[in-house]
Amino acid sequence: MSEQVATCPNPNCKASIGNIVVVEDQELLQIGGLLISKVDGVCIKCGKQFHWWATDRLLEAILERLIKKEEKTIEKS
Ligand SMILES: [Zn+2]
Repeated sequence: MSEQVATCPNPNCKASIGNIVVVEDQELLQIGGLLISKVDGVCIKCGKQFHWWATDRLLEAILERLIKKEEKTIEKS
């Protein structure tokens, strides 16, 4: 189980919102005592909307892996 910090998407704010926790290849957001798969909220520091959807993150991860694979294939040829 690895951890990384989820921050506000506003580049001028970057307030810490919670921890991203990977459980069995699925990224979940930990805020306080909760593990959350979907969040729609706003940053309490700047008011920027914050959306988190584990399915989106999963798709992102799959795409990232595919892109990396493609890069490796290009390097070889
Ligand atoms: Zn913010």
